[in-house]
Amino acid sequence: MNKVYLSLGTNMGEREQNLQLAVQLLKEKPHVTVKTISSIYETAPVGYVDQPAFLNIALEIETSHPAMDMLKICQSVENELGRVREIRWGPRIIDLDILLYNNDNIETEQLIVPHPRMFERAFVLVPLLEMANGFQTPQVERAKSSLESMDLAGEGITKWKTLNSVEEFLREE
Ligand code: ATP
Ligand code: MG
Ligand code: MG
Repeated sequence: MNKVYLSLGTNMGEREQNLQLAVQLLKEKPHVTVKTISSIYETAPVGYVDQPAFLNIALEIETSHPAMDMLKICQSVENELGRVREIRWGPRIIDLDILLYNNDNIETEQLIVPHPRMFERAFVLVPLLEMANGFQTPQVERAKSSLESMDLAGEGITKWKTLNSVEEFLREE
């Protein structure tokens, strides 16, 4: 079994509902188990700043799928939720990125793992480390030291809602 960490982000429409739909769709994929969900964080946009704030979560997944297949699954969930690619780093219904796949290093044209920008992003590291703290790998250690070196106060990230379990999150109205 492979341990995979995903990052999900949304800043259009019913943001919490977008996250719920994405988690539900992931859960329904064969050979994908959503083990743990982080709290929900709200983050001011970076890069293209003239857009609404994001909600971000991280998920811990167990799967027998190879990494490339997990990327395709993530992209199909984005498409099922109706994501349209327009402005890079612009507003989106949902973004699903693979952060870590075991402790693998992957570098292909379509997939880079660890995610190439994750170590600079508080909105990725904070939810990730809420769950991955006990998963002791060099990449998780790197995530921890990256987060420690950040000035979190300046990152515009706040906890928006504490979540206790995947099941409870999916039952919420
Ligand atoms: P960022 O990558 O900076 O978070 P983004 O998520 O908005 O930006 P997308 O438009 O979702 O970017 O994805 C662009 C491409 O990134 C995808 O077509 C995909 O092939 C590639 N990609 C490379 N590595 C990864 C990864 N680890 N997870 C998801 N997509 C990846
Ligand atoms: Mg992204
Ligand atoms: Mg993406």
